[in-house]
Amino acid sequence: MSIFETIESNDARRHLQLRSPVTLEPTGELVCANAEDVAAAITRARAAQPAWAATSMKARAAIVQRALEIVLERQDEIIDTVVAETGKARTDAMTMEVFSVADSLCYYGKNAGKFLAPRKRKVHGVMGIAKQLRIVYKPLGVIGLITPWNGPFVLVMNQAVQAILAGNTVVAKGSEVTPFSAKLAETIFTEAGLPDGVLQVLLGDGATGAAIVEGGVDKVSFTGSVATGRKVAEACARQLIPCTLELGGNDAMIVCADADLDRAADGAWLGSCMNTGHYCCGTERIYVVAEVYDEFLRLVLEKGRHLRQGPQHGWEEDVGAVFWDRQMAIIEAHVEDARARGASILMGGRRNPELAGLYYEPTVITDVSNEMDIMRLETFGPILCIQKVASEEEALRLANDSEFGLNGNVWTRDKAKGYRLATAIDTGSCSVNDMAVSYGIPAAPFGGRKQSGLGQVNGKKGLRAYCHEMPIVIDRFGGKMRNAYPYSAENAEGMKKLMDFIWVKTPLGRWLS
Ligand code: NAD
Repeated sequence: MSIFETIESNDARRHLQLRSPVTLEPTGELVCANAEDVAAAITRARAAQPAWAATSMKARAAIVQRALEIVLERQDEIIDTVVAETGKARTDAMTMEVFSVADSLCYYGKNAGKFLAPRKRKVHGVMGIAKQLRIVYKPLGVIGLITPWNGPFVLVMNQAVQAILAGNTVVAKGSEVTPFSAKLAETIFTEAGLPDGVLQVLLGDGATGAAIVEGGVDKVSFTGSVATGRKVAEACARQLIPCTLELGGNDAMIVCADADLDRAADGAWLGSCMNTGHYCCGTERIYVVAEVYDEFLRLVLEKGRHLRQGPQHGWEEDVGAVFWDRQMAIIEAHVEDARARGASILMGGRRNPELAGLYYEPTVITDVSNEMDIMRLETFGPILCIQKVASEEEALRLANDSEFGLNGNVWTRDKAKGYRLATAIDTGSCSVNDMAVSYGIPAAPFGGRKQSGLGQVNGKKGLRAYCHEMPIVIDRFGGKMRNAYPYSAENAEGMKKLMDFIWVKTPLGRWLS
């Protein structure tokens, strides 16, 4: 039984029957926006954009502040909607979907004016005598925003707020697995006073997403799988429009001999199981140096005994449901591959037999190797794969032996060593003595290396990437210094002398350059 299935309809739109991952009971019907609906939304967004771009940053920030207040006022409703669609633990919904969104709205609302203000930049060298440089940040126009199911509210809100504050309008689409959590972003911003057409969240599936990408938007911000990301990149390349791709991961955790093992064991559980393991920066591989391997494993197994899984979704449950059956099939296939190749399943390794919905037990696997699917591919489940290694160098080599490069985490009491190992990991970002948290820190630019993505979102850089950074060069002397035809041998001689003066002969010239 699938979490969503196509059902017959007699109109021009695809209809999907949705089911709860917690009870597997039908929860509603999704009517997917078709290509005409998408075209109409983009037309509306295009029409709304000039007036929106003409509003002051103060007015935009006031709407964002109001949206932040609404998120806090309506946090229970947001959590209920997300939990009903995903089956994630209530605390995961609170931290990932409410706290992170509030923090993001606060950060960009406070800082967008500063980050996007026109600025002077020094012109270097001899050109600086004659020219002034100003940089202005102009909105790109209409942004297509496509997001997955694992962070259905936060991933829309976090990118939408940046695009909107930069003066763009947005046509967004959440996943077909979690459409109504994504739709909340539009509801909240509308209630906060965002004018019509500035943020539209469409309901739909992959075909709806493809229609947005092909529909004449000015940039695509995509978060999802590597396979879909590649299709989006190809479509954007054909149209010569920019895109950012935030894709999958296969993050490694390195536990050094001098780590605080108790904290590292907690970090291993949370890093692997938060959001039922459906976290792009989730810990998928754990490399532990031999000296502390036995003790680390003992602590992990001891702590794992206390984890709670259940269908009530109160605050006292730790690991929620798998959000949809397609992911369950991937998790089961990877665990079976590991088992068949000689891995030891020390805990879990199966669906929870006591729960009716899509629940996979928190799982600990050892005797793994980088050849197994579970270590090579993104499993996206509540699973700890733990491998003993001879040294930190071996851990680093194995961590970097991956097609992915999203995030990672290093555990050691020696902060300088943690920093050194973190910089040596070939990933978009890395944490020292915590699970991957950089997406939750708005100032941190976020983006993967290798197959994990293209470009970066978030922070000053991500916000500015929703703009064209336009240099304006102004002549200091009102055009009195002539730059004109005719060319002549005399002028060429003068130019040679100038170059000699600046770059070859005189200390004054070298200072000027
Ligand atoms: P997915 O690629 O199947 O779908 C993502 C979105 O793209 C959905 O809204 C889907 O409807 C849409 N889509 C599907 N086909 C499309 C097409 N041809 N054109 C345009 N849009 C299309 O991914 P998913 O299974 O929903 O998400 C899970 C993946 O997302 C995991 O790999 C996870 O690691 C990744 N992810 C990455 C980040 C990050 O920031 N790097 C964050 C969250 C999730």
